Parts: sequence; C-alpha cells; structure tokens
Amino acid sequence: MVKSPEVEHPKKATGWAARDTSGLLSPFNFSRRATGEKDVTFKVLYCGICHSDLHMAKNDWGMSTYPLVPGHEIVGVVTEVGSEVQRFKVGDKVGVGCMVGACHSCNNCANDLENYCPKMILTYGAKYYDGTTTYGGYSDIMVADEHFVVRIPENLPLDAGAPLLCAGITVYSPLKFYGLDKPGMQVGVVGLGGLGHVAVKFAKAMGVKVTVISTSPNKKKEALEHLGADSFLVSKDQDQIQAAQGTLDGIIDTVSAVHPILPLIGLLKSHGKLVMVGAPEKPLELPVFPLLMGRKIVGGSCIGGMKETQEMVDFAAKHNITADIEVIPIDYVNTAMERLAKADVRYRFVIDVGNSLKSSS
Ligand code: NAP
Ligand code: ZN
Ligand code: ZN
Repeated sequence: MVKSPEVEHPKKATGWAARDTSGLLSPFNFSRRATGEKDVTFKVLYCGICHSDLHMAKNDWGMSTYPLVPGHEIVGVVTEVGSEVQRFKVGDKVGVGCMVGACHSCNNCANDLENYCPKMILTYGAKYYDGTTTYGGYSDIMVADEHFVVRIPENLPLDAGAPLLCAGITVYSPLKFYGLDKPGMQVGVVGLGGLGHVAVKFAKAMGVKVTVISTSPNKKKEALEHLGADSFLVSKDQDQIQAAQGTLDGIIDTVSAVHPILPLIGLLKSHGKLVMVGAPEKPLELPVFPLLMGRKIVGGSCIGGMKETQEMVDFAAKHNITADIEVIPIDYVNTAMERLAKADVRYRFVIDVGNSLKSSS
C-alpha cells in the first residue's frame, strides 16, 4: 500500500509544494525520516530559488512528479546528528545542495564526482534509497546523509551564502575543470542571473577578465561597477558582438531558455571552449562549421562533487563571495517565480524560511 506523504516517516514537516504543471506552490504537510546513524537533521533558515526549481515546478524537463517541494540551496542550523556522524554537531551552520545520495561505489563516486554517479539522488522530486520521495528546502526541516552536507564557514552569511550551494558550485566547477581559471584569461558569462552573477564573482576572484553577454542592457552599469565585470556585450547588438569576435578563451553559458549559440562560438578564440550550464527545455541548434574553423569545443557541466562543493564554499568565504539577494517571505514565492521567469531579479531570490514558514512541530 502506498502511504501518504504525511505518514511515511515519523518527523512532521511542512513546506510549500507545486501540485501540477501550473507550477503554483501552496502549503503542504509531509514527513521526514528519523535521524539515521549517518544523518544530520537541521532547521532550515534560508533557501535560494534556482531557475531549476521553476523548470521542475512546471515540468519543463518532463521528469517532475507531484507534489513537488523544490529547493536545493538550503542552509540552516543542525538540531540533531546520528551516532556515526563525524563532521557535524548540534548548532553547526550547514547546507545541502542539489543531491542527497549516490552509489558510493562507481568510478565517478570514487573520484569525488557523485554529481556524475548514475545513481545520484536529487534533493527533491527523486526516490530515496528507501523508495520514498525526496523533498527540497522550501520546508522547515531537512534530514540528509552527512556525506551530502556542507559546512558553512563562520564568516559566510547564511542568507547570501545559500545560493552558493547550487549556483556557486555550478559555475565554479566548470571554470576549474575547463581550465578557465587562469589569471589574465578572457572568459565570457552569458546570462546575468543567479548563476551568471556568481560566475562573474568567482572568475574575478580567480584573476580572470570577464565579459558579460546579456539580453538586458539595463544590467550593464551594475555588471561593470558593482559586480566587477571588465566588459559588457548586449547579445542582440550585432555591432557589439561583431567587434568582439575571437576574443574569448572560454564562455560559461547560463541561459535558461532556447537561444542561438552561433554568435557565442564566434566570440571564442581558436581552441576556445563554450561550456553550457543553463538547461533550456528544448535542444539548441549546434552549427558545426564554426567549430571546425578554430578547433573549438562545446561542453557541459552539472553542479559539482561534494569535495569540490566544500572547496568552493571555503573559497567563497575566503574571497568574500556571496550572492546578491532579495530575501522574501515564503508567501511571496509564486510572485518570485513569475519574476524569475522574466529575468526580473537582482540576482537571486532567497526565501526566509526560518521567519516566514509556520512550522508544523
Ligand atoms: P536565472 O537567474 O533565471 O538566470 C538566467 C539568465 O539567462 C537570465 O537572468 C537572463 O540574463 C538570461 N536569459 C533568460 N532568458 C533568456 C533568453 N530567452 N535568451 C537569452 N538569455 C536569456 O536562472 P539561473 O538560476 O541562473 O539558472 C540558469 C539555468 O541554469 C537554468 O536553466 C537552470 O535550470 C540551469 N542550472 C543548471 C545547473 C547545472 O548543474 N548545469 C545548475 C543550476 C541551474 P540576461 O538578462 O543577462 O540576459
Ligand atoms: Zn539549482
Ligand atoms: Zn556512484
């Protein structure tokens, strides 16, 4: 017999869930497992709103199940730890990102790349080892295996630090893996949203020269003066794009919707790399000739492993990198989603879960 979400587990939890492909979120009572030997339980204080939450709430990728409690930029304070937990104690500031499980025995897992494990378990909308549904951070409490819990350094604010758990690692990892982290390199960041604005900050901290490529001319001043970008191209301005042909060593493309990549390939130097991290719901058109002419590479990247995620958070703390956020109460979440769909956020919504979500316990 299938048990209802309220009684699957002993811990009462409450959150906000999407019920169907409208993506509209509303209050939802469910349950979390008791703290297992290797589990860390924490009170959720803040949760960032990633564009993936919006894609998932609306079933853009055809893999959503309902009710769906989104949220994978989750931070809070530990309230309970299992008997075998070694790295955390009650009162610690912690976070959970996009994944909560993996096989721990495949090649990727052995290389600290749980994010590429074929059995990786997503933080929400997936099936946990015990067959129950995983629920994300738009909720009052979280229980996770300590392996997937990140330590939040003392000097990192919890609210502006939360988006690092997904947006941060998603851009940090490809900058490193594709060798786009060398001082003096020229790197483009396409789409100045949640991922894009932290990409600018990480790349600058690595000593890279950053060009923002955006559809929003009104983001130019802020990108240059506040985020520290070195130049700004409006992607629809043919003259600007033409003038910058062949200037970039690499590009991190964070765009959430279908868009032309031919102009981006043109911006690359020979051997340049176009790295896709945005996840549009439909395939993009890949023009081959411009790749051949210049031995250019198109690649992809998906979040990062747990070891690298901790490394990224520690790097952010050291370099004072946080997200620029708009903190909202949970009952603003549907309006926030509408605004996110229109790229109307500077640059990440973070839900003040601790103060605005009425707890069930
Ligand atoms: P976001 O805050 O909405 O930012 C996306 C930005 O893309 C927008 O701010 C906008 O920037 C630009 N954009 C939007 N629509 C566009 C269009 N039609 N054409 C051109 N540019 C457009 O979203 P996010 O949270 O950063 O996430 C971005 C994408 O990455 C999403 O698809 C998300 O699912 C995906 N993602 C992937 C991973 C991974 O592991 N690979 C992890 C997290 C998220 P401008 O105003 O500057 O043009
Ligand atoms: Zn995300
Ligand atoms: Zn594995």
